[in-house]
Amino acid sequence: MEDCIFCKIANHVIESNYVYEDELVAAFRDMNPQAPTHVLVVPKEHYANIVDGVPAQTLAAMAHAVDEVAKAEGIRESGFRVIANTGDDAGQTVHHLHWHVLGGTNMGEGLMP
Ligand code: 5GP
Ligand code: ZN
Repeated sequence: MEDCIFCKIANHVIESNYVYEDELVAAFRDMNPQAPTHVLVVPKEHYANIVDGVPAQTLAAMAHAVDEVAKAEGIRESGFRVIANTGDDAGQTVHHLHWHVLGGTNMGEGLMP
């Protein structure tokens, strides 16, 4: 999609700091990290969010990418958090589906601030 920053990053129109990539997805570091590891996993095709008719194959590729990121970052055993902000109440600011992978610190048990 034109003028979508994550379309551009995922498809190398704009380069970023990539951690993992395959045919369907790219994973790159968030420009404003909220944890020692803060990586965004995004599909190369444009979907607005997780309820935008995302094919099962793409969701599976995103889950695989999370695993690869966790291994590469050394947080697979210590634990990590995956967040998909969806819509206004969740504070979604980039309207291209992305999963935040956060780790490298103990985030405690609460989900809400
Ligand atoms: P949201 O609030 O939509 O779930 O999160 C969007 C995330 O994308 C934010 O954490 C923000 O820092 C990150 N972000 C926005 N624009 C860019 C960019 O151009 N490059 C990178 N690497 N991250 C971005
Ligand atoms: Zn997009």
